[in-house]
Amino acid sequence: MIFRGILEKPKHETLAYRRRCQREERKSRVMEGKKLQCGECGFLSNTVGKAEEHAKNYCHTNFILSEEQFIDQHCCSCPTHCNSPMALELHRKRSDHSEYEDTEAKLRREEARRVEEILAKFIKAEEEIRILMEKERRANTRLAIKQQEMRSCLDSIKQSLKFVEQLQRAFDTLVMIVKNVVEKPAEEKYRRIRISAIEKRLGYVEAGFKFLELCKFEKVERGEFLVLPYYEVEDELLEAANVELTQALGEISKEQGVTGQEDMLKRGKN
Ligand SMILES: [Zn+2]
Ligand SMILES: [Zn+2]
Repeated sequence: MIFRGILEKPKHETLAYRRRCQREERKSRVMEGKKLQCGECGFLSNTVGKAEEHAKNYCHTNFILSEEQFIDQHCCSCPTHCNSPMALELHRKRSDHSEYEDTEAKLRREEARRVEEILAKFIKAEEEIRILMEKERRANTRLAIKQQEMRSCLDSIKQSLKFVEQLQRAFDTLVMIVKNVVEKPAEEKYRRIRISAIEKRLGYVEAGFKFLELCKFEKVERGEFLVLPYYEVEDELLEAANVELTQALGEISKEQGVTGQEDMLKRGKN
């Protein structure tokens, strides 16, 4: 008994219910082979109920007996559905809409249009991704080139400054400038540097300034100042500068270590 509720079909699906509906529809049928047709729009109905509903919905009250067959046509230019030849003819005359298609064709066409839209969106998204990837590739290439140029600047500083202390001071100066901007990009004093304040520490080597220019500093005010405008601060670029400086500093201390060992060996021999 517990399962009774589950096994029983819902009321509207039972055979008895369906038979009752069919009986009622037959009863409400106008006459065998005849239908009711709206005289104002041509709407065809095989039951009194449907005719009444149409009359209520559209305020069309003039119904006639008709022997027309049902059709299932949609106007291609507006949402009108015609269920009889008369309805189609009336719509054609009143609206001047000349093309019609059956429901299935309309559904197929709409489905095709939906598929086309989805496809177009997909193609657009793919194109956008391609453009983004291309942009990123170009940005990466540009960054790699700049980083390479930074490395050559640091190499020429190395070649120009013979004393390790000088070199260390020059590199430390560049590290400090880059670090300050990375940590506090909004602080103007870190982005505006008086050249006379750093040229000695950079050992008067032009490559030191070139390095800063690669970080987007520019010489202004008759070459007295180096300025990096706030909107030109580029994290990736400064990160690349930092990587190159760290590498260069690492190389100095390695070389220093080797030189120190050689010195000790020499001293040991003497
Ligand atoms: Zn009507
Ligand atoms: Zn139409």
